[in-house]
Amino acid sequence: MPRKLSALCSLLFALAAFSLPSALAQTAKPAPPPPTYIKAGHLFDATSDQLRDDVVVVVEGERITRVLPAAQAVIPADAAVIDLSKAWVLPGLIDCHTHLEGRADKYDPINDVKYTPFLGGFNGVVNANLTLQAGFTSVRDVGSQPFFAVDLRRTIDEGFIPGPRVVASGPGISITGGHGDMNGFAPAVENMMYPAERDYGIVDGPEQMRHVVREQIKYGVDVIKILATGGVLSQGDKPGAEQLTYEEMKMAVDEAHRAGRKVAAHAHGTEGIKNAVRAGVDSIEHGSLLDQEGMDLMKAHGTYLVADIYNDDYILGKAIDFGLPKEMVDKEKTVGRLQRENFAKAVAAGVKIAFGTDAGVYPHGDNAKQFHYMVKFGMTPAGAIRAATSSAADLIDRAATVGTLEAGKYADLIAVTANPLDRVETLEHVAFVMKGGKVYKDETGAAKPR
Ligand SMILES: [Zn+2]
Repeated sequence: MPRKLSALCSLLFALAAFSLPSALAQTAKPAPPPPTYIKAGHLFDATSDQLRDDVVVVVEGERITRVLPAAQAVIPADAAVIDLSKAWVLPGLIDCHTHLEGRADKYDPINDVKYTPFLGGFNGVVNANLTLQAGFTSVRDVGSQPFFAVDLRRTIDEGFIPGPRVVASGPGISITGGHGDMNGFAPAVENMMYPAERDYGIVDGPEQMRHVVREQIKYGVDVIKILATGGVLSQGDKPGAEQLTYEEMKMAVDEAHRAGRKVAAHAHGTEGIKNAVRAGVDSIEHGSLLDQEGMDLMKAHGTYLVADIYNDDYILGKAIDFGLPKEMVDKEKTVGRLQRENFAKAVAAGVKIAFGTDAGVYPHGDNAKQFHYMVKFGMTPAGAIRAATSSAADLIDRAATVGTLEAGKYADLIAVTANPLDRVETLEHVAFVMKGGKVYKDETGAAKPR
């Protein structure tokens, strides 16, 4: 080594040695937070249908590091303890079908003309918190103005507002004049409304579908929502009618899957459901007019059914008072009844079920009211809970981090004060909510500093 260079090296070495301790001090990570020990009297970890008694869940930072029998747990005298030894502890619940920008306490069909998209943002801040307080620590938000759900996910992840983990979609992708389009207005009125919503959500033909799916992915969505058939809460279309073609849906699935995104298909009608399943979508939303062949296809493809079988009660109760048009009320009456019957058949047939409620159609925070109906229409309480935990996590592609209570997963957990396997409605009153190791609700007093 030339002398000059060698001198330079020693100088650098000396400098490095001199500055090393202070550099280390600057870059050294703060010590990891001490573990919190959660004493669970009864634990439903969602890896099976069984409860385990007297278990300790060890949480370090935002993750679970150990789940072990209380008898084997050595808890230091000065450790942080959350004593849920009289409670039933479960994974944080997951709703695979929400619309966090929506409000259900009033019906305002032309709000897109009267207000700016900011209104949905304000709604989202409130609704995300209501959802979390109800014990839902993750949601898949399937259909909103571009790109509300992406920004909501970001804001919650940054810790700026409280809310569930959000798996975000863009607007549901619809055909012109379909369930996702704004129908019933003169062209001039429509052109004044939000062109962006049309740009990112209306397609005719596979190539337009390819473009819109790619665009939605570019702007940060986690999941693609497509509208395979007509809908209930839209005007001028029939829930049973096919809308997107097989070729359009196949394009959506190919593009989404290539980019590692799943596809959720809104589908009420019998043929639309089957075409969506054949096209390879990951879930059928609603599934109201599902027939035997549709169930066979779903089983063969491993497609999930996400059936919102609670909100009928709300729509046919309160929403009539809000002046919901008769067309929508009539559709809901027919479709809602058939949906529940077909849900029961799908459960009996062994179709994969994930929990999703269409929150936003009814008030956010009431999500758990659907458990009652899932059990009434054929599921066991444990099965219904797993639909909202382990199965939901699988559907939303988050099984590595949420959905069960196991070492390595996020410490997303809830507690209730009665056995939900005896009475699943217990989940309508969640007493304790932890997300990512942070307590967001504690009516038990268990998390109080001792
Ligand atoms: Zn929906």
